[in-house]
Amino acid sequence: EKEKSLNFLEHIIEEDIRKGFPKKDLRFRFPPEPNGYLHIGHASSICLNFGLGEEYKAPVNLRFDDTNPEKEEQEYVDAIKKDVEWLGYEWDRECYASDYFQQLYDWAVALIKKGKAYVDSQASEAIAAQKGTPTRAGEDSPYRNRSVAENLDLFERMRKGEFRSGEHVLRAKIDMASSNMLMRDPIMYRILHRSHHRTGNDWPIYPMYDWTHGESDYIEQVSHSFCTLEFAMHRELYEWFLDNVYDREKVKPKQREFARRNLSHTIVSKRKLLKLVEEGVVSGWDDPRMPTISGLRRRGYTADSIRNFANTVGIAKRENLVDVSLLEFCIREDLNKKAPRVMAVLDPVKVIITNYPEGQEEWLDAENNPEDEAAGFRKVPFSREIYIEREDFREEANRKFFRLKLGGEVRLKNAYIIKAEDCVKDQEGNITEILCTYDELSKSGSGTEESMRKVKGTLHWVSVPHAIEAEVRIYDRLFTDPEPDGHKDKDFMDFINPDSLHVTRGYLEPSLKDAAPEERYQFQRLGYFCVDKESSADKPVFNKTVGLRDTWAK
Ligand code: ATP
Ligand code: MG
Ligand code: MG
Repeated sequence: EKEKSLNFLEHIIEEDIRKGFPKKDLRFRFPPEPNGYLHIGHASSICLNFGLGEEYKAPVNLRFDDTNPEKEEQEYVDAIKKDVEWLGYEWDRECYASDYFQQLYDWAVALIKKGKAYVDSQASEAIAAQKGTPTRAGEDSPYRNRSVAENLDLFERMRKGEFRSGEHVLRAKIDMASSNMLMRDPIMYRILHRSHHRTGNDWPIYPMYDWTHGESDYIEQVSHSFCTLEFAMHRELYEWFLDNVYDREKVKPKQREFARRNLSHTIVSKRKLLKLVEEGVVSGWDDPRMPTISGLRRRGYTADSIRNFANTVGIAKRENLVDVSLLEFCIREDLNKKAPRVMAVLDPVKVIITNYPEGQEEWLDAENNPEDEAAGFRKVPFSREIYIEREDFREEANRKFFRLKLGGEVRLKNAYIIKAEDCVKDQEGNITEILCTYDELSKSGSGTEESMRKVKGTLHWVSVPHAIEAEVRIYDRLFTDPEPDGHKDKDFMDFINPDSLHVTRGYLEPSLKDAAPEERYQFQRLGYFCVDKESSADKPVFNKTVGLRDTWAK
């Protein structure tokens, strides 16, 4: 048996267990802020935390970090739950930081009583000006030495809603000379008269992230709280807050940091993705060009492919840029196993098989998936008039052109060998029809000598009278630069690809008549496609997920 190599976070957990931490007390959480839809970066964090839950048979909470009512909405909560479930994970408890507002308030009162927090009545600019610099100590606020009684009175009145937004804040009293700027009397509460999606107008004060996160971990008895590197400097404050409230009988959560995952040719930041939505660059959070979980789902990505991607990339201590071609490789690999093969023509030219009787049709056997025997066969109709791709025919071509040319033969997939005899053109010289003959004895699978005859090319095709017309949406990368967010002098909006969506009309074999949204197929020789949520029987719509090969390599 091959032993799985542990990542550095698993080493931390193993070390804790070795030192006596009870395995049964392990608990993890995934803590999204409901201020947008989850993106592929979040998938890393989800797979990490829920993956640890599976590995250690430990519960994992889904915790909404909902302390900023200016940006958070129920719509986002619902979308996040749907996405985590779709990825295939089950949380133990659904938690909300807002459920802890009273407990956090009570602990803040206790800190005031211990002389470890005070109400500052300066404007935010004055507070910022006193912060100092990493090499120069900050200055004390003139309110730093307010009496406990006065602090308690003011804080209680803040909570009652007696003051206007921004009039006072509650600050922890730590160290204005700390080399860690975050320890210089950080703000714990601000006044904000704003309705919250869960607590309504109950609270005119809201706790800040640092005060909330560790205490929420503690309330839920999370043992290991894994977050991204930008929180490394916050760890000292996380521990300071915990040390002031925790009961030594209970689990004290441990924060550790890993590197954020960035994906090339896109951006992973809810705030910036929101801008794309608001400015109409995309049709919504689930636009198939978006790196959101919902966008990838609509594009045709499977949950397996996203989990596989996250696990392949793994976690790291240092930030880096993962090439989007790896994500594309993961979906291609998964769909190769799972997606039924069908025939569709996206840029059609008509072929007339002159020796095939007019009005005749036959239904031929076609294998659904050569990678999966259990997938079986279906019937596809054949008739005198078919479509092939325009680029699969040339009047003249050299010997390396293995498709159809005048005087040459190709096999039609699942059907017969045809030979191009002539072609018809319009006044501008565009080919409108190709006239062919077929070899009646060459039917695929018929067992005749002619059916085994080797010809160089095999083309996909669709019978004209049976074809279903569909809208086919073909996507290109949303950004022209591998790192749209990585330029000092330019904004990511400067790199938007103006041609990221191309809408075309396709002709599909009739077995696709009842295809339902999110169903995925391989259009043979063209790529993987899925049914869009806007599709209907009258107006089918397909999205291209990814091509068959990495056309971006090099
Ligand atoms: P955004 O800037 O997109 O809003 P965020 O970190 O503020 O990202 P949260 O909702 O707070 O978003 O994230 C929930 C969890 O997912 C956090 O633990 C966060 O560290 C993690 N996470 C977010 N983005 C990434 C990423 N690109 N790679 C890995 N983990 C991430
Ligand atoms: Mg966050
Ligand atoms: Mg954020």
